[in-house]
Amino acid sequence: MIPSVFICKLVSLLFLSLSPILSLYLGSSISFMGISTETQQQHEKENAQKRWTLSDFDIGKPLGRGKFGHVYLAREKRSNHIVALKVLFKSQLQQSQVEHQLRREVEIQSHLRHPNILRLYGYFYDQKRIYLILQYAARGELYKELQKCKYFSERRAATYVASLARALIYCHGKHVIHRDIKPENLLIGAQGEIKIADFGWSVHTFNRRRTMCGTLDYLPPEMVESVEHDASVDIWSLGVLCYEFLYGVPPFEAREHSDTYRRIVQVDLKFPPKPIVSSYAKDLISQMLVKESTQRLALHKLLEHPWIVQNADPSGIYRG
Ligand code: AMP
Repeated sequence: MIPSVFICKLVSLLFLSLSPILSLYLGSSISFMGISTETQQQHEKENAQKRWTLSDFDIGKPLGRGKFGHVYLAREKRSNHIVALKVLFKSQLQQSQVEHQLRREVEIQSHLRHPNILRLYGYFYDQKRIYLILQYAARGELYKELQKCKYFSERRAATYVASLARALIYCHGKHVIHRDIKPENLLIGAQGEIKIADFGWSVHTFNRRRTMCGTLDYLPPEMVESVEHDASVDIWSLGVLCYEFLYGVPPFEAREHSDTYRRIVQVDLKFPPKPIVSSYAKDLISQMLVKESTQRLALHKLLEHPWIVQNADPSGIYRG
């Protein structure tokens, strides 16, 4: 067990400083897929000592644009490994005072290894920019898929919810709370598997916390009311997500923010008649969206729920 104070110290020692004065060498690693174990080990050894630069990559088409920069398809020249290169501008990060958040995101995400969590292989920087070397999610944003379909079938929703539950069980086992599960933070991999892609609000913790974060519609009552919260916030958000998958809108949506807050705190949960959703699905959602955080359905129990058992593809891959 590593205390969080130590992690913070480690992060600040290890991670890139946005200040140009501090130019510590920072190692990063990429593990290459599709190479024999021995060669891979050799590569990993070399990469652990490697300083990445932009010249190590061929830059391809833009994949998207975020708040602080752009994401490009890229190929690592030596291995031909395809990655997504996220380019962030230091000036914009500094202006928005999110350096600390980025540091935490990189530190946490680079240590997680799960099929439903986007890999962060490494990072490097130059005078103006920070580059994150990310796993490429070939099928893009889940949010766009949901917009296209309006809502998902129960099989598709259950497959995604089960995969996310497994990924969150893994995170919580490592004392990492995600705190911002929502469609915009999810990508789809080449096989159709869902991937948690954004750890900007995540936290490595051993204690209960008070920080208000996350997106309005997905905030649990304890965060709306700024009382202490723990890993069960992710169960609530997964319940909201499950609802949005099935109905196309989040459950506590309202015109005014204050009304959304009120609906969340009162757990004003209503199931519209259309689209038609099974009573098993509604039962699962009702067991996750529970005000008392200790009473929310535990994630391992979720995986045993009849709606998940009957609908989720055990491979975690939605085949259409
Ligand atoms: P972000 O800055 O993380 O919000 O990323 C901006 C956009 O780039 C996203 O909305 C995606 O469309 C795309 N994108 C980001 N990361 C990846 C990735 N690893 N694989 C594929 N597309 C990505």
